[in-house]
Amino acid sequence: MNILEKLCFYAQNQGQNLAIRSGDSCLTYEELDAYSSRLANFIQKSCGDDRSPVIVHGHKQVEMILCFLAAVKSGRPYCPLDISMPNSRVSDIINAVSPSMIFALEQEREGAISIKQLSGIIESTKEPVDPACQVKGDDVFYMIFTSGSTGTPKGVQITASNLNHYLEWSVGLGNSREDKQGKAFLNQAPFSFDLSVMDLYTCLASGGTLHLLDKETQLDFKKLIPALGASGASVWVSTPSFADMCLADKKFSADLMPDLETFLFCGETLTNDTALKLMERFPKAVIMNTYGPTESTVAVTEVQVTKQLAQSSRPLPVGKAKPGTFIEIHREDGTLARAGESGEIIIAGDTVSAGYFGRPDLTRKAFFTSMKRGQPHRAYRTGDKGYLDEAGLLHYEGRMDLQVKLNGYRIEIEDIEKNMVRLEEIVHAVVVPNMKDGKVKSLTAFVTGGDKPDSGLRYSKAIKDQLKAFLPAYMIPKKIVHMESLPMNHNGKVDRKKLGGMIR
Ligand code: AMP
Repeated sequence: MNILEKLCFYAQNQGQNLAIRSGDSCLTYEELDAYSSRLANFIQKSCGDDRSPVIVHGHKQVEMILCFLAAVKSGRPYCPLDISMPNSRVSDIINAVSPSMIFALEQEREGAISIKQLSGIIESTKEPVDPACQVKGDDVFYMIFTSGSTGTPKGVQITASNLNHYLEWSVGLGNSREDKQGKAFLNQAPFSFDLSVMDLYTCLASGGTLHLLDKETQLDFKKLIPALGASGASVWVSTPSFADMCLADKKFSADLMPDLETFLFCGETLTNDTALKLMERFPKAVIMNTYGPTESTVAVTEVQVTKQLAQSSRPLPVGKAKPGTFIEIHREDGTLARAGESGEIIIAGDTVSAGYFGRPDLTRKAFFTSMKRGQPHRAYRTGDKGYLDEAGLLHYEGRMDLQVKLNGYRIEIEDIEKNMVRLEEIVHAVVVPNMKDGKVKSLTAFVTGGDKPDSGLRYSKAIKDQLKAFLPAYMIPKKIVHMESLPMNHNGKVDRKKLGGMIR
């Protein structure tokens, strides 16, 4: 059964069970399936032959998921955009995608369907869509935009087949598919981040209830801790950074969440210390470290982090390839590295994306066909550095380029720099990560242009305020340092290392 068939199955067999909950709003399986089919019929009738993606702009409303499912039931991919993205970036994406329909669930937007209109449409559309319309096989199911080094985000296209192969594996991650059946799952990541696919669809494929934690709740311990307790979650899906944040509160333990059985982590380094602290607070829970980029559908490797592994292997490995995935390490000349030898991590197999939306140039650079066991497989050059040990476990060793992860968010440093020089007073901008324990803790920008400021603090604040027009908050450097000129290395390039030394 594919994910849409599973949804229909649960609607028929456990229709009154809750599928999604966000604050006081919730949807049962019956409602989720019926409403999304009716909304799909409306999309199909309104858009006719236009099969372009449907954009869903919002933040953690249960209706977002209705819109995702309606889009794919109508035969169109959906593209989730979070409200953390500034309007100019949303507009750039809308222009690039030329969507067949836009749902704007948070703020009203001209030409878009608002949350109020949405309920009216569901009420007035009585007929469900023809199931023959839905996306299948190599049709694109969703498209997630990630930071791009050119200064504009790139849309990673994931097909129905990619997602279904991924789910075959993820329903059994950490504990068996039977153990996950009907359980409560926690959703931390916004839907514009592919980590959310791990909780959303693994939960729906298991007939469980997904608890959405909105931004406001996540930023306030007084709300967060009770919300975690009330979720009754058995399956936890988050970035390690979020778990670190929760660990700062002593109440975050098995006493608060007695049903928690599985921690699923992805998206950034899980440190040994975080894993060991979680084991202390949740002695019965299984901790899984998984690895993968959006381009290979969320995650492609897994390892259970036991106490023994956390004490003996520093840093932790990211695991073995899932079924249907092949991991290779390539040397600079493209030849295969030996066990233990570092190189670029290459991912091939059934969950590798078709490529970037409308960008055949970027797609050709990053994707290729690889022969595995006599069969052609789609393959992706991750730009990640790592090695496979003798046991076949993958070890992650950082990036080969200027991409970083900050609190789980994927950021191309050049994306920030290119947007900074859009400001009139900035001629040149170089952004440097501030590292601690192998993780990026914050970003500092060194800039030239304009007059020397009287006050560094005021200058920094003024630049940061202007950047809000172009960049989401998590991409805005914490510190902006004005320079007369930037240091150069002997190749005539800006000396990023030297700048890095200046912030340590
Ligand atoms: P995203 O596309 O946002 O999921 O980001 C993908 C990138 O995050 C990968 O290419 C890695 O650089 C990094 N990443 C993902 N999982 C892990 C992990 N378990 N440990 C360390 N880095 C990771």
